[in-house]
Amino acid sequence: MLLRHTTDEIKERKALTVNPAKTCQPVGAMYAALGVHGCLPHSHGSQGCCSYHRSMLTRHYKEPVMASTSSFTEGSSVFGGQSNLVQAINNIFTIYNPDIIAIHSTCLSETIGDDLKQISQKAKEEGKVPEGKYVVYANTPSYVGSHVTGYANMVKGFIRSFAINTGKKTKKINVLSGWVEPSDMREMKRLSELMKVEIILLPDTSDVLDAPMTGKHEMYPKGGTKLEDIVEMGNAKATLGLGHWCTNDAAIQLENTCKVKFTIEELPIGIRATDRYIQALSRLGAVSVPQSITDERGRLLDMITDMHQYLAGKRVALWGDPDILIPLTEFLVDMEMKPVYIVSGTPGKRFMKKMEELLSEKIPEAKFKNGLNADMYLMHQWIKQQGVDLLIGNTYGKYISRDDGIPFVRLGFPTIDRVGHSYFPTAGYQGAMRLLEKILNVLLDKQDAECPEEKFELVM
Ligand code: SF4
Repeated sequence: MLLRHTTDEIKERKALTVNPAKTCQPVGAMYAALGVHGCLPHSHGSQGCCSYHRSMLTRHYKEPVMASTSSFTEGSSVFGGQSNLVQAINNIFTIYNPDIIAIHSTCLSETIGDDLKQISQKAKEEGKVPEGKYVVYANTPSYVGSHVTGYANMVKGFIRSFAINTGKKTKKINVLSGWVEPSDMREMKRLSELMKVEIILLPDTSDVLDAPMTGKHEMYPKGGTKLEDIVEMGNAKATLGLGHWCTNDAAIQLENTCKVKFTIEELPIGIRATDRYIQALSRLGAVSVPQSITDERGRLLDMITDMHQYLAGKRVALWGDPDILIPLTEFLVDMEMKPVYIVSGTPGKRFMKKMEELLSEKIPEAKFKNGLNADMYLMHQWIKQQGVDLLIGNTYGKYISRDDGIPFVRLGFPTIDRVGHSYFPTAGYQGAMRLLEKILNVLLDKQDAECPEEKFELVM
């Protein structure tokens, strides 16, 4: 019993988080940078931070994650990391030859006040940035926000550094992908191709973190948003951001600097959020929805209808990133499941507002919280007070699942004890079918394992 000390008695906590439902900002900055072709993420801080962030991404994606570090020592911690970073920029372009270095800060470099903009400029002035090569940066102090904030900051950094409005509008639509799997980004592109809407997806980790095994290591895999496409985003017809937390700042930046109007929708997870993605593409691209997509939606509806009796009324606990939790909650409510406990370590007022909209009438008993103290410990305490039928969230839920014997569907970052998320989408109608299949499998497996002999059914 790994969590045997968890009690159902909830005491007010002010400065203590136990088993946080988030990780630190630079992990998100690193992931976003990997979604740009030929880009090497660089961690401006100590080696330990960089190793941790790389290892989390490697464990989740089961792929080698390349990143460099300023390797702070005691000296840089006291006198500042400028000389380390200037030296690092020179070494990286000389040895690893990326097209772009995407620098993010860490707790330490932020605390001592290193100015990434000024240091990058200094490196350029000293000739450490070769012609045709670039350095971008994002401030990602981990004592505020979460990995989601870090992702958003780095996406904004790419827009700030590269997007240009030349005055020649194109018909392309910018799609800012929130933090989803490479498989989901591939699915977003597949749906836009079916719609015949030309999009620029930023970032795009497909063919980077789900790259095929060729027997040869590629330092910079073939995937990732191309630099020229990011530049062209400034001329696009419109921007569609997917996920408020991950894309809002970048969309605003693009509108402010390049006058590209934007719309933000939820990530296309579940039926109604995918409807909104398809409708947004249809509206912005001025195209109609093809029959093949309508058929995909119909198959999802058919699956929900066929298996509704196993879903209705089931109590579910969820945790993870707000951009995923909001459409997921909507999807579960649509299937008449009961998302009763929801936590996210990522702060942001919109979370509580959206959850109230989705749940206050339909599931009045639901409890939800984000930001400070919205952690896995609180989630477990709620579960101790009254149990649930299903857990949905990242790998860290396996302790609760094991201790309390609750079926568990892994979803979100990090998922480090199962595979499949990189290859099979959760986004789109087909992704919703996969998610539904996973939910049904764990619920029916439990029923098969625990029901009395006379209720054991071959056909379900
Ligand atoms: S929380 Fe701060 S110090 Fe710790 S790994 Fe993250 S960036 Fe580094």
